[in-house]
Formats: sequence, C-alpha cells, structure tokens
Amino acid sequence: MSDTIFGKIAAGEITADIVYEDADVVAFRDLNPQAPVHILVIPRQPLPSLEQVDDQDAPLLGKLLVAAAKVARQEGIAKAGYRTVINCNAAGGQTVLHLHLHVLGGRPLQWPPG
Ligand code: AMP
Repeated sequence: MSDTIFGKIAAGEITADIVYEDADVVAFRDLNPQAPVHILVIPRQPLPSLEQVDDQDAPLLGKLLVAAAKVARQEGIAKAGYRTVINCNAAGGQTVLHLHLHVLGGRPLQWPPG
C-alpha cells in the first residue's frame, strides 16, 4: 500500500530518475532541483515523517544516511561538500508525507537556509 507519490515510486508504480536502490531505500532525482545535484533518499517503508520515528527506526534512519553518503560519492559531490536535509511536517517545509532525505550539492550552499 503506497499512499503518497514517493510510496508509489518506492513500489515501482510510477517512474522516477532512480540513482540508487537497495532492499531498504530508494534514491531518485528531485523533479524541481534546488542545486545542480538534488536527490531524495526515501525508505521503502512508508513512514510519514520524523514525527512518527522512534527507537525501532534507528537502523532504517542509519541506512538513509549511508545511502545519502553513497549517492554523494557516486554523484561526485562528496569531496567538495554537500548538504542533507530532512523537512518535518508543515512548518518544517515538508510537502510529501513519506519521510525523505534531501541531498543537495554541486554549488556553494548558504547557511542558514531561508
Ligand atoms: P519536501 O518539501 O521536503 O516534502 O520535499 C518534497 C520534494 O519532492 C520537493 O523538492 C519536490 O520537488 C519533490 N518531488 C515531488 N514530487 C516528485 C516526484 N514525482 N519525483 C521527484 N521529486 C518530486
């Protein structure tokens, strides 16, 4: 059962520009990139957001970060540097309620973000 567009991508029900996948996570290019490299890493398991996460999810969250690091190396942005972001719920800017980690790079990134 995949309630969101990202759930459908994880289930292979709709297409995306997938750059990495394994048993637990899928990574694909953002449709509206905010940097030359902008990839979303999602768990196949449809967790809505960090709001629902607890101790039992620690291994999966670790896998998201490891996948992000692999994708950054694969995309050639790891040495220069990049940013990972997880938006949580409305005030955090989350628009798709399937937990996802943004990987942004390929240009200098400002801090703090807007
Ligand atoms: P967030 O605001 O953190 O929920 O991020 C959602 C991201 O998903 C945005 O950067 C969108 O551009 C991106 N997005 C929405 N639909 C798709 C899609 N079908 N394929 C790839 N990226 C998408």
